[in-house]
Amino acid sequence: MADEEKFDAVIVGAGPAGSAAAITMAKAGLNVALLERGARPGSKNVMGGILYNHYLEEIVGDAWKEAPLERPIIEERRWMMTPDAAIGLDYKNLRNKTKPHSYSVLRARFDAWFAEQAEKAGAVVVPETVVDRLIVKNGRVVGAGTGRGDDVYADVTIVCEGIGLGTGLLEKTLIDGKPLRRKLRPNEVAMAVKEIMQLDAGLIEERFNCDPGDGCTIECFGDSTMGMSGFMFIYTNKDTLSVGGGALLSEFNQTLRSPNDLMEHFKKHPAVKPLLRGAETVEYLAHLIPEGGHRGIPKVYGPGYLVCGDAAMLSNPVHREGSNLAMESGRLAGETVVHCKEAEDFSERRLAEYKGRLDHSWIMADMRKYDGAVPLLEHNPQMLTKYPQVMDRALDEFFRVDGASKWEKQSKIFKMLRKEGMLKMGWDTVKALWTMK
Ligand SMILES: Cc1cc2nc3c(=O)[nH]c(=O)nc-3n(C[C@H](O)[C@H](O)[C@H](O)COP(=O)(O)OP(=O)(O)OC[C@H]3O[C@@H](n4cnc5c(N)ncnc54)[C@H](O)[C@@H]3O)c2cc1C
Repeated sequence: MADEEKFDAVIVGAGPAGSAAAITMAKAGLNVALLERGARPGSKNVMGGILYNHYLEEIVGDAWKEAPLERPIIEERRWMMTPDAAIGLDYKNLRNKTKPHSYSVLRARFDAWFAEQAEKAGAVVVPETVVDRLIVKNGRVVGAGTGRGDDVYADVTIVCEGIGLGTGLLEKTLIDGKPLRRKLRPNEVAMAVKEIMQLDAGLIEERFNCDPGDGCTIECFGDSTMGMSGFMFIYTNKDTLSVGGGALLSEFNQTLRSPNDLMEHFKKHPAVKPLLRGAETVEYLAHLIPEGGHRGIPKVYGPGYLVCGDAAMLSNPVHREGSNLAMESGRLAGETVVHCKEAEDFSERRLAEYKGRLDHSWIMADMRKYDGAVPLLEHNPQMLTKYPQVMDRALDEFFRVDGASKWEKQSKIFKMLRKEGMLKMGWDTVKALWTMK
């Protein structure tokens, strides 16, 4: 790039948000630069990960079918764990074979492909470029500084840097003396780890009860995270498993546990160990997840800039969604800039259209609905510790054939649930989940 080249838009970060914004604008004929610190897009990125093809299709059309996806998800399993049991809810939906809506992915492959679509659409993709500052002139962001003499100027800068806790551009850029995003608190962020474990495709299908090529998810709560607010997962890829999970940073700090402790504890659980037998760890990754809810969302537009994806704290951990909020917000930001270009008006008032579009989208509806979800778990640790154990005892009683009559068993279970407060808790939880906002 030539020194001080001027673009319609410069995007910081080629994750799902950044590439979605770049494709949207480049397709509309705008002059776009997409800057990425990794050696190639995706090389530093981490996700569980399950990707939702609907949002991908909205951005790249039929080309989504060529994306490097791993396995379509046919079965979703959720386990509530105690040290020696796993209480499961399994949903196998065979319609997902012909009409899949989610796939396992490996981000190193997917992000590189997605950024390639931006390049094909006409964006200039520049890897190995760390943006070290947003350039602010007269109270307006006017571009991205790379600290190596080829600063990039643009009418709009779109910040898609991911969570950027502590070191992010949003936290260190000041306009009128104020940072573009306040510092996140440890209970607004989850610390997550993941191992990619190699296992023969046939063995994956056998162990996870999948037809050839099909995939399955297992998400585990309770003892799996040693009772901390979060969950662990196993996702099936073509010939690897993604195994990982996380919990609130504040709870790691309080308990002095490390993410590695969590991982080792999970892998040793008697319901998990046989699934991973013989699988060899080929990659170990760690990353943060924004969990601040609707309250944690910073100002997503300002003079000369827009913020998308994890940088804007857009994530729904209850439904394990983040990549789709990133893509959708990137698309909405891209469309806003296209409108600005058509009107030749890049004022802050015009950029505010992005906020309006977000506010009226499913993204903000979901962010509002689940605003209280993480605090609910954080302030009620019994939901992931005591209650699974009571359920385990109740199910043990129910299934055990031991000479007691079924009447005796039912009455014993009912009394146990009432004594432990489970009946009220069950009702309160259903109500809370339904009306959450
Ligand atoms: C363990 C884990 C499991 C997850 N599982 C799922 C899942 O199953 N499904 C799901 O939908 N979501 C999942 N998520 C969430 C999902 O990964 C994020 O919501 C999504 O990646 C956000 O996309 P993004 O583009 O906003 O940010 P990111 O994906 O973080 O991308 C940011 C990009 O910016 C680049 N960058 C950062 N700073 C700079 C800089 N200064 N200069 C240049 N480049 C920079 C980075 O290298 C990166 O490429 C998971 C997250 C984790 C950590």
